[in-house]
This record gives sequence, structure tokens and C-alpha cells, in this order.
Amino acid sequence: MKMEELMKKCPKCGCKDKKILRKIQDEHRAHATMKSILCEECGYEFQSEEKED
Ligand SMILES: [Zn+2]
Repeated sequence: MKMEELMKKCPKCGCKDKKILRKIQDEHRAHATMKSILCEECGYEFQSEEKED
């Protein structure tokens, strides 16, 4: 993950604190994980594209 992403302000509330959710997609059993970056304050979901290979 880029630091820039973590430094971004939330477009909704302007908060800079984030939490990262890791979603594991069991259904496909392909070790595919997706990360979501959520605003700590309001829960706004930032877009993140990430490949872990
Ligand atoms: Zn927010």
C-alpha cells in the first residue's frame, strides 16, 4: 500500500485516520485478498487496488 493513500483526507469528513480491512475471498480459494481502507471517523470507503503476488 502506498503511503499516499493513508495520508489522504476523507472527502466526506476530512479525517485522516483510517482503518484497513482485509477481506479474504474464501469462495474462490485463490488466496485472493482485498483490502479496504475505511475512514476511521465516518466509515467512508477509499478505493484501493492492490495485488499481493
Ligand atoms: Zn470520513
